[in-house]
Amino acid sequence: MLNIKIFGIVQGVGFRPFVKNLADAHKICGSVANKGSYVEIFASGSDSDLKNFLDALQTQNPPRSAILKVDVNHLPDKNFADFQIIESVHEAGDIFVSPDIAICEKCAAELFDPTNRRYLHPFINCTACGPRLTILKNMPYDRERTSMSDFPMCDACKAEYFDKNSRRFDAQPICCNDCGCEVYIIGKNLRGHDAIKFSRKILANGGIVAIKGIGGFHLACDARNFSTVQRLRNSKTRPTKPFAVMFRNIEAVKRECHLSAVEKIFLDSPQKPIVLLEKKLPSSIAENVAPNINKLGVLLPYTPLHLLIFDFPDDIKNSPEVLVMTSGNPSGVPITVDDDDAIKNLECDAILSHNRKILLRADDSVMDFIDNRPSMIRRSRGYAPLPIFFDGTNKKSVLAIGGELKNTFCLAKNNLLYVSPYIGDVSDLRTVEVLKKSIERMGNLLEIKPEIIACDLHPRYQTTILAEKISTKFQIPLIKIQHHYAHILSCMAENNFHGEVIGVAFDGTGYGDDKTIWGGEFFICDVKNYERVDSIKSFVQAGGDKSAREGWRIALSFIKDLDVARELNLADEKNLRGVKFLLDKNINCVRSTSVGRLFDAVAAVLGICKVSTYEGEAAMKLQACAERSDKKFRADFRNTDEIFAEILTRRLNGENILDLARFFHESLAEMTAQICEELSLKSKIKTVALSGGVFQNSLLSSLTFDNLNRCGLKVLRHELIPPNDGGICLGQAVNALQN
Ligand code: ZN
Ligand code: ZN
Ligand code: FE
Repeated sequence: MLNIKIFGIVQGVGFRPFVKNLADAHKICGSVANKGSYVEIFASGSDSDLKNFLDALQTQNPPRSAILKVDVNHLPDKNFADFQIIESVHEAGDIFVSPDIAICEKCAAELFDPTNRRYLHPFINCTACGPRLTILKNMPYDRERTSMSDFPMCDACKAEYFDKNSRRFDAQPICCNDCGCEVYIIGKNLRGHDAIKFSRKILANGGIVAIKGIGGFHLACDARNFSTVQRLRNSKTRPTKPFAVMFRNIEAVKRECHLSAVEKIFLDSPQKPIVLLEKKLPSSIAENVAPNINKLGVLLPYTPLHLLIFDFPDDIKNSPEVLVMTSGNPSGVPITVDDDDAIKNLECDAILSHNRKILLRADDSVMDFIDNRPSMIRRSRGYAPLPIFFDGTNKKSVLAIGGELKNTFCLAKNNLLYVSPYIGDVSDLRTVEVLKKSIERMGNLLEIKPEIIACDLHPRYQTTILAEKISTKFQIPLIKIQHHYAHILSCMAENNFHGEVIGVAFDGTGYGDDKTIWGGEFFICDVKNYERVDSIKSFVQAGGDKSAREGWRIALSFIKDLDVARELNLADEKNLRGVKFLLDKNINCVRSTSVGRLFDAVAAVLGICKVSTYEGEAAMKLQACAERSDKKFRADFRNTDEIFAEILTRRLNGENILDLARFFHESLAEMTAQICEELSLKSKIKTVALSGGVFQNSLLSSLTFDNLNRCGLKVLRHELIPPNDGGICLGQAVNALQN
């Protein structure tokens, strides 16, 4: 007889019925039980049947489940008459909380089936789909520990909930048109279907509707209506940062975007992330949805309410087939989750809300693809809080509080590292409050009480200040970890790599050991220690925070000559003179090795973007230009100063700016590989880890991988953990586990 323990996302995804069916098919007797953190199976049968059963368990598991580890032990045989599902018992141990899961095909079919008793029910769900993390108070995952505890089940739902053969057996958020939650329009006496029809009418007429979803409110409007999109931009004070769009279905996506096989799999997966897809031209999507970039953030409907917004059977004509779907929040503040805040914060023509409480925020995840592999940009709904396995030298519980921008935090116990959903920009004090509450809630949920706390080295990050407070209050040791080392560690952790690497961190801004700004660093490191062995050539950033937004300032610091700056029309005379003065007198100046700022400077010199209105704007536009050039360059530069000087000369000679954007990417990738090759020869290390926000740039990443591979080096890269600051909490946690 075999005793099999399966760890992972095996709760709330129909795992036990799956095991039972498989056992019956393979003539296996025994039992399966939900142990809170794992599923335990006792299986008795012939050797060959057992082997097939074990294989099938791991290869045919339900699509929404995720097996992280399987323990198999042989026990003396016992006589079972059949195969049984045993009632749920919570046992202490490693906890795997399921992320929220998009509506499944069966529920979607029932939603539009007039004979079904859940016809047009905006909260239809089953054992394989629906909200999880965002409605959960405590483990184990049972109805009374979710925000569904406010809603008693009707008899019909109760019968399904307790029926082992039902698709809704043990489905905690189960409800129907006779029981459970309800949608409504705030401030109007419109509930249920009337509320949905009202919202559809507003959207069809060019209005903006705030819609409460799984992890927070969205602001939605017709993505083909230029003036409505502009109104949304003005009210959000978000002049150019791209909006994501939700298409009615995959056919609608294909009409507007190029969609590869692998992109389709992820776009339509149970996680339903936003996937960055290349626009087909000409496009019918309003130009101001994602101005001046050739990609579009696309997602598919993932809640029953989304489906009803697109396809409710009423007589509304010209209901939009593609909606802007942007997080409902004032800029810099976390996504709105309750009605009071929605009324206060969201400028729109109607608010479509519902009475199922959101207990933990979860923004949409955002994913790009590089060389047909995923490249996560924001890891949140659908993915958090799936843990990463990584062995430490200690087994302490850790809270790693993350960075300042794109903040996420990480809780770790027993070598399992749980990265939180996206929190946001913690320089805003309202976000700090959300961070504090989320740490508390996730700590409760995962039953983790930190014994070590880890944070960034930056003395003025709000996260550092909060970590210091928590450390003092609870008397737990605090360790501070250099920003770019944490980036590299997060990449190593994602790849479960424990050896020595050459770490390349190309990033926007991070606090260096020497108190200057780092962001173009070469390390030799392992999980315990690091040495900064090289960096890009340093330059001067003048004008504090402004220098991070205004690339022309960095460009001027490279160029130095006012006449050249004037010729390039970098800025108006007053600003040019002002910054030149700061540079000459060394006032409000810091030294920097930030590759992010180098991108800004090159974008400014090429006239592509002189001032950014959102983080990464210049780099995105520079990449978009580079991708439109098909020139190949043989570049051979020793440092970034030489690359910049060459681009400047060619620009002044009137060369094509698309080609020069391409030239910059190729030269930087080539230089990076050369430095790594030399470091590898000296150190005998054959593995390179690439991290930092700059590697979100799929062109630079792809060129760098190719060059490194050509040098015979193995490359560790990010896939499901972001290379940007959304990943550094993981790196911090890894280091904290080594002390
Ligand atoms: Zn379902
Ligand atoms: Zn019901
Ligand atoms: Fe960073």
